[in-house]
Amino acid sequence: MTRSGHRKTHRSFPLAARILNGNKIRDEIYGELAGEISALAGAGIRPGLAAVLVGDNPASKVYVSSKIAACEKLGLGSIQVTPDASITTAELLAIVEDLNRRDDVDGILVQLPLPPQVDAKKILDAVDPAKDVDGFHPMNVGHLVAGRPTLVSCTPAGVMEILRRSNIPVDGANAVVLGRSDIVGKPMALLLMHANATVTICHSKTRDLPDVVRRADIVVAAMGRPAMVTPDYIRPGATVIDVGINRVTDPAQAAKYFANFPERLAGFNAKGSTLVGDVHPDVGKVAGAITPVPGGVGPLTIAMLMSNTVKAARMRAESDGRLPRDASNAKIPVAATAKH
Ligand code: NAP
Repeated sequence: MTRSGHRKTHRSFPLAARILNGNKIRDEIYGELAGEISALAGAGIRPGLAAVLVGDNPASKVYVSSKIAACEKLGLGSIQVTPDASITTAELLAIVEDLNRRDDVDGILVQLPLPPQVDAKKILDAVDPAKDVDGFHPMNVGHLVAGRPTLVSCTPAGVMEILRRSNIPVDGANAVVLGRSDIVGKPMALLLMHANATVTICHSKTRDLPDVVRRADIVVAAMGRPAMVTPDYIRPGATVIDVGINRVTDPAQAAKYFANFPERLAGFNAKGSTLVGDVHPDVGKVAGAITPVPGGVGPLTIAMLMSNTVKAARMRAESDGRLPRDASNAKIPVAATAKH
């Protein structure tokens, strides 16, 4: 028996939850975007994304290259600007301002984290809100708060796509968001509220966390705490969305998380590392539906970045008269706007 009391015989471990496959949903969205992209191409418009990657952070390099690969797969334009880690705030501001002016750039993403000598807030505030495909600019955040159409932070927008396309009822549901960061927790709570969920936002000072989470029909975990949400947090049948991405390299930890998942443990033993979410894999035996890590929320984050880039290109083309206004609004996945 494991510590949580269930049998260790792997074949009998009952996974009750429906697995919400993020790769499949991403492919659906890419299929829809392909139509939109070819309609724009017919009007002579090729949406373009600029990625600013400062320095040599290996994780940032991986993230940026998967974003560029997604652009290439969909036929979007892409450029990478890769200044040295010693760049100053003023120099980086000049790069952002140049990208703001460039006509072939519809979306700008500045990969975080930035080096400590750079004022990250100043840089993010300098991105033209119309090109802010990460949805971080205060003007876009304000639009989201007010429930107006805008460019929304990609990860929470992707979570809404998972819920909507998996027919998980949000209207009237009790939703608990674990984490209150500007890029995930807060916009996530706002999107769920706009979709008529009753939302509770939890953070590191929340008292009686498992009790609060157990009230939820929908749990979104975005804390960066490996496997912290255990089965006792979850009301049987609840939908669990695991945003966390944590790299595990300690064999003792891996053995604890994957005791009931021999293939995952074998994968860890072969590679010496693996990814685990903020949700313990055993939660699959009580949840009604759950996103896996990897292959859940991650693919949607990039899909929504692509969606935001296409949307930004269309909005710019509409505002400068290259396209008639609202010509193809309906084709953009709905979570890319604040209204759900
Ligand atoms: P963050 O800025 O570090 O914020 C973490 C939040 O979790 C904070 O609000 C913190 O509370 C809260 N928290 C931390 N420990 C807690 C605890 N023990 N109990 C309750 N709340 C706790 O992180 P983030 O940028 O939002 O990212 C969260 C996770 O999502 C990370 O694992 C990240 O890698 C992952 N992520 C994944 C994707 C994706 O595409 N799948 C995208 C973005 C992020 P306080 O505010 O009180 O400190």
